[in-house]
Amino acid sequence: MLTDSPMHIVVLGGGESGVGAALLAQKKGAKVFLSDRGNISPNQQVELELAGIEFESGQHTWDRIFAADEVIKSPGIPDTVPLIKQLHDQGIPVIGEIEFASRYTDAPLVAITGSNGKTTTAYLTHHLLKAAGKDAALVGNVGISFARHLATEGEPEVFVIEVSSFQLDSIHYFRPQVAAILNITPDHLDRYNYEMDGYIDSKMRITKNQELSDTFWFLAEDENIDKGRQRNPVAAQLRPVSKAQLTEKGILLGGEEIDLTRTQLKGKHNALNALFAAGMAQTFGISTEEIRAGLESFQPIPHRLEPVGVVDGVTYINDSKATNVDAVTYALDAMDKDIIWIAGGTDKGNDYSPLFEAARTKVKALVCLGADNTKLKAAFAGIIDKIEETNTAQGAVMAAKALAKEGQVVLLSPACASFDLFKNYIDRGDQFRAAVQTLR
Ligand code: ADP
Repeated sequence: MLTDSPMHIVVLGGGESGVGAALLAQKKGAKVFLSDRGNISPNQQVELELAGIEFESGQHTWDRIFAADEVIKSPGIPDTVPLIKQLHDQGIPVIGEIEFASRYTDAPLVAITGSNGKTTTAYLTHHLLKAAGKDAALVGNVGISFARHLATEGEPEVFVIEVSSFQLDSIHYFRPQVAAILNITPDHLDRYNYEMDGYIDSKMRITKNQELSDTFWFLAEDENIDKGRQRNPVAAQLRPVSKAQLTEKGILLGGEEIDLTRTQLKGKHNALNALFAAGMAQTFGISTEEIRAGLESFQPIPHRLEPVGVVDGVTYINDSKATNVDAVTYALDAMDKDIIWIAGGTDKGNDYSPLFEAARTKVKALVCLGADNTKLKAAFAGIIDKIEETNTAQGAVMAAKALAKEGQVVLLSPACASFDLFKNYIDRGDQFRAAVQTLR
């Protein structure tokens, strides 16, 4: 691809994936310019400076961008913005960071997508491979980017990559040997003209370049995945993961039961995640015994049904990452005690009806934690007896403490994004955890 003059690469967006892509492009001999219309964090700026990569922050200089032979864009930038449209019009290829990085490795790729459970399943798959002695690297949306790993750490035996639909929108040849779609439920519809089909097709792109020797893992009982498969035939071997493989205590793997009550994986959703991770790990020759041991040594990830303390006999659980209704459905289901539920934030056009049944039977009080709680309150009026409003994590914890009785659980599982009151879901979960710690 490189001729005598170096290839000119422009990276749009100075977040983790953009900086990773810039580092890798430079390492591969390209001339790199990174442009971010927003602010690039001081750490990333220092890193770019140290690497000798030219960049701009707070603006896009179109002339410099249009001098590119190829543009690598951040998944946060939609294809519909004028800059990207014009790049397309001028025939300048625009790709994503995972597409770019995948050119520079021969290691097998395990790519995991879905509306919920990506991070957990990616961590778990990585953990199972590592625990069985494989040199696996965990990259993508979580932690360090795929490109940065290749630029700074070299090649592992296998890459486990968490991928979002936005990242899949800008792949061309990206081919995971093992691909998974955990589930597809409404999310991010604003990026897909509010059309579910667009979102489904975007997820299905994970299989686009797969071949017969590859495997595709998907939830058998997911109607949206069925629809996606009808429109997008899959060449890879199909590996349906079924809810029928869940048992009272755990999962059935090749006819053998694995008891998940001996692990930190709580709830049906995590049992499904475990089935996916175990199946995918098995394609790399990991035995059932190794999987059992790996599942038992897995530690929960912060902000996903994370127990943060027991005060006066009340258990506090941080599920701040539950930013949509489906995740909360599983969270409520996973609780075997009565719940004081803290929810709310930026509503993404939620339909709360899938929660009504569990709310009626298990939720004793709702503490709203959002700048505007009108919709949430209206949805659950008449379903949950007590509804209170707060607008700080501390206030929500205090209100929940006053409402909770011994033996109950206080669950932060918001069903909404966090940007109205917090920097992000991590900030929201951290503030919740800190507030619980002050109760002791
Ligand atoms: P993602 O990376 O896709 O956002 P996470 O693993 O971070 O997924 O989990 C996000 C939220 O979804 C958490 O609240 C978690 O408890 C819940 N969750 C995890 N796995 C699943 C699943 N398979 N189905 C539904 N909800 C899930």
